[in-house]
Amino acid sequence: MFRAKTQNDGHLVLNRRRFMGVAAALIATGALPKTALALAGPQRFTHGAFDLTVLSDGQLNLPLSIVSPQATIDDLKALMGAAVQPGDMFTSEINVVLARTGSDLVLFDTGAAGAFGPTAGQLFESLKAAGVDPADITKVIFTHAHPDHILGAIGADGKPTFANASFHMAENEFNFWSPADLASKVPAGMRDMTLGIQAALAVLGDRLVTFKAGVEVLPGIGVFETPGHTPGHVAFELAGGDGLVLIGDSIPQESVFFRNPEWTFGFDYDGAQAGKSRRSLLDMAAASKKEMLGYHWAYPGLGRAEAKDGAFAYVPANL
Ligand SMILES: [Zn+2]
Repeated sequence: MFRAKTQNDGHLVLNRRRFMGVAAALIATGALPKTALALAGPQRFTHGAFDLTVLSDGQLNLPLSIVSPQATIDDLKALMGAAVQPGDMFTSEINVVLARTGSDLVLFDTGAAGAFGPTAGQLFESLKAAGVDPADITKVIFTHAHPDHILGAIGADGKPTFANASFHMAENEFNFWSPADLASKVPAGMRDMTLGIQAALAVLGDRLVTFKAGVEVLPGIGVFETPGHTPGHVAFELAGGDGLVLIGDSIPQESVFFRNPEWTFGFDYDGAQAGKSRRSLLDMAAASKKEMLGYHWAYPGLGRAEAKDGAFAYVPANL
């Protein structure tokens, strides 16, 4: 459904991304208002019976040092190209997928709300640009419970933002984050995040329902486990063609981890397990010619894997 092209072959794309990175840095220091950063417009396409729209929640601006402990900053700069920003920072997009299927309007993850500064948390502007009323969303399906995936489901008023939706999370993921004493058992660096996740899950309350891997969440939407980034992380496969896998954070950055699936990502809970999940997901996707959509890949995050030199090359879609 798309023509392959090599990465970074468009000067316009490169220039826009560089501009956005500089603008994001200026916004972070208060030198530019948030509105100076243009939001990527909704990107619509079809897959099988699904009418899909990629909605940008904006970007995260993160230090290169968190990408992988196995790589030097110079390794990462060589691999990541246009995603690298001044000051040894990099841009990580946030690609939220909206799917119309049957009578449902489904959102896969919900963005970061205000938790990561002014360059993220723009999902509701993207919904407006797409002409979608948040009240019309019927289901919100999470890949995992990290803040940049679930906090868009909670409003500034402390209530769920999607008034008429049910919320769906893998049972293993929900069970991992649920113990009341979890924050006292995780590493110190995870404590505040753990408490934030638990507060968000408490807001969703009994509107949150769990599912198991191996079943369909909705007709045509399969689930498989990709543990490691979080203990209960899952990916979703949308039926149609050779399949389209919404991979969430199973592969958190495309140019680094296609080439080095076993490298640990700085935000992986269990890097070795995450590496195994990445390798098997990429093996499967390359062999079956499946499309993939990455939550944090260069917008709109749609592409596929080709086996190359014992690892993989990322081939972005030409939408
Ligand atoms: Zn994420």
